[in-house]
Amino acid sequence: MTQETGGFAALDLHPSIVAAVIATGYEEPSAIQQQSIPLILAGHDLIGQAQTGTGKTAAFALPVLHKIDVSKREPQALILAPTRELALQVATAFETYAKQMPGVNVVAVYGGAPMGPQIKALRQGAQIIVATPGRLCDHLRRDEKVLATVNHLVLDEADEMLKLGFMDDLEVIFNAMPESRQTVLFSATLPPSIRAIAERHLKEPKHVKIQSKTQTVAAIEQAYMLVHADQKVAAVLRLLEVEEFDALIAFVRTKQATLDLASALEAKGYKAAALNGDIAQNQRERVIDSLKDGRLDIVVATDVAARGLDVPRITHVFNVDMPYDPESYVHRIGRTGRAGREGRALLLVTPRERRMLQVIERVTGQKVSEVRMPAPQAVLDARIKKLTNSLKPLVADAETTHGELFDRLSADIGCNPRALAAALLRKATNGQALDLASVEREQPLVPNGAPRERGERSERSFTGDRPERRAPMPLGEGRARCRTALGARDGIAAKNLLGAILNEGGLARDAIGRIQIRETFSLVELPEDGLDRLLAKLKDTRVAGKQLKLRRYRED
Ligand code: AMP
Repeated sequence: MTQETGGFAALDLHPSIVAAVIATGYEEPSAIQQQSIPLILAGHDLIGQAQTGTGKTAAFALPVLHKIDVSKREPQALILAPTRELALQVATAFETYAKQMPGVNVVAVYGGAPMGPQIKALRQGAQIIVATPGRLCDHLRRDEKVLATVNHLVLDEADEMLKLGFMDDLEVIFNAMPESRQTVLFSATLPPSIRAIAERHLKEPKHVKIQSKTQTVAAIEQAYMLVHADQKVAAVLRLLEVEEFDALIAFVRTKQATLDLASALEAKGYKAAALNGDIAQNQRERVIDSLKDGRLDIVVATDVAARGLDVPRITHVFNVDMPYDPESYVHRIGRTGRAGREGRALLLVTPRERRMLQVIERVTGQKVSEVRMPAPQAVLDARIKKLTNSLKPLVADAETTHGELFDRLSADIGCNPRALAAALLRKATNGQALDLASVEREQPLVPNGAPRERGERSERSFTGDRPERRAPMPLGEGRARCRTALGARDGIAAKNLLGAILNEGGLARDAIGRIQIRETFSLVELPEDGLDRLLAKLKDTRVAGKQLKLRRYRED
């Protein structure tokens, strides 16, 4: 075991959980894990204030797993999540951390999928249920005893659950569980509605919060870019084409990610290496020396491995994976701007991590500006500039050394000099895209819409698309308007509709456009693609106790 894994080993978790965590590539617990795990293990109720990106899932999943009695084939833990997407993510996380605990079964219970297999998994003795509130209530209506043996409850993203209108469902669920249970509540924010729930349903809860003292980051220019998680490597490669840097450090979360990104960079010809806790100390020192003296230009590191790294020629820090907390963000970007020089820090943000960005801005007291994926034209210009720069020094004497050969080749082939020069260029550039259309085809996909400002999302508009930041597909195109006869007079708010459609329809939030609530009806913009299937799925959906009956709306 390397010294860094001592962090998890010291938490008193079951060895098979620690082993699975280490196998996942985590080197040390994040701040929220460090603080929450001992409290949950000790049996306390807990309120954790943390957002996506802090490692909050493992903060509750690891101690909950530790408490599962594998010999009992009955539900023992319930995790509630606001959306199907998050429920699946949390269920997958549990499965990952339980890889070395045979006999642990996890069932994800969410709307928009048939009830049958979920009922079967529950009957077959799944110990951990990860559920969205609406669908879990459907199960409770069939069998009110489903939760009778559950003694650990986790509310994940509690504030989001309330925003989606799940308050009533939560009450039903609380009442279906034993009073003696342990309850853990994670929420990015703690508005009065959440505090009220905690007051009613948690017993002397402990509070855990990532300390957010303001920190200053002086001469470092900060920016972020919105990306999909699976497009990060492509985004980094793209950015590096247009960014002028001397030396760069890229931060990722796992050892495997250091290796993957370093090899992708090497494959593109960068002098790059990985730095992680598995690499022996003397080898790590060699990597850092190489970065100092220019044998390497890019190091891809985990936080642990980069601790104390001080290399003055670092001009750029890329936060490819989000840091767990603002402190480690400040620590990371402090690797550049050394000795009074200027530095540039870039943060890649996935749609789910937007909140963390806001926290970072608050803690650093600085606005992090948005940058966009470099446009294809800029990438093309950068490539041509590089090619020009590489050829320029050669033209001085290449004619002397290779001029005769050139004449002979064009004579032998029987082509004009331009054709031969073009053929040589094609060979020299080795398949690289050097025309606009090809560069455009390589452009990584970016998520829809820009991050929302706090409070910007109104009850009536959930698109998040500002006109100037619209994704390639303009709003409206590919969308259809649908109508329900439920409106304000039925007690419907946009959040109820959104919650129902997200969970029962299994859509991503970005897929749902504008929601307009009128007195006697409501309109929702939904993706045209697959609309009939979606409407069929929503056939029996009820909102505020009434049938939704969503139909295509014809404006004529
Ligand atoms: P979460 O905040 O739970 O959504 O977690 C965000 C990401 O961090 C997930 O991809 C986790 O796999 C990862 N993660 C959580 N804890 C750790 C850790 N201690 N070390 C490295 N990665 C982690």
